[in-house]
Amino acid sequence: MNFIPCPSPNSDERAGGQSPSMIIIHYTGTLTSEEARLRFCDDAPSDSIGRISPHYMIDGYGGIHKFVDEDRRAWHAGRASWGDITDVNSASIGIEIWNTGHEYDFEEFIPLQIDAVIDLIKDIRTRHNIPHKNILGHSDVAPGRKLDPGEKFPWKKLAEAGIGLMPDANYSASFEIDDFYGALKQYGYTYTNDQEILLKEFRRHFLPHLLNEKYLTNADIDALGFLIQNT
Ligand SMILES: [Zn+2]
Repeated sequence: MNFIPCPSPNSDERAGGQSPSMIIIHYTGTLTSEEARLRFCDDAPSDSIGRISPHYMIDGYGGIHKFVDEDRRAWHAGRASWGDITDVNSASIGIEIWNTGHEYDFEEFIPLQIDAVIDLIKDIRTRHNIPHKNILGHSDVAPGRKLDPGEKFPWKKLAEAGIGLMPDANYSASFEIDDFYGALKQYGYTYTNDQEILLKEFRRHFLPHLLNEKYLTNADIDALGFLIQNT
């Protein structure tokens, strides 16, 4: 693959020298990709967020910028958790996609960006054993704190390209999930116990058309049932 090199000083060693087992997808939330590119290499930022970096960023033309080597820990997830993983940065590869995000227009992702992210993830998976279940959004590992990559991110297109998991709309759970939230926690959503937030962030990834639905539905149960059955 061709990367646009952009080495960042913002990285350190992965805890325990582990190899990555997750991929976390973000949007930059910036007006331009250049702004994000500079921010990811800034070792003395003036804002309160501090030093940050992904491993990769995809610009508006599908160009892939490389900031941090995959064997290093980049600083993109912040406070986050998935299953029993609480040092998500040590366990993951972070991919930022340029998009202005919820704070601005939150425009549709550009097809060239999606092609690039699919190629990039396929490439990463030739080097590291990353289960489809662990290809996630920032909002999955920090629900309530982060919204990215957001409900417009086409997880379905990735799944059609063989990346990640998306529930089959025709799937009907062959069992009752009496304790939906217990099952959700078991599946990986361990960051918070706030049920309203959990349902919303689960939907943002897996059932975006139900994002504003108020109550738990059979479709939620079927979707989680599908994910549990297929991992
Ligand atoms: Zn993020």
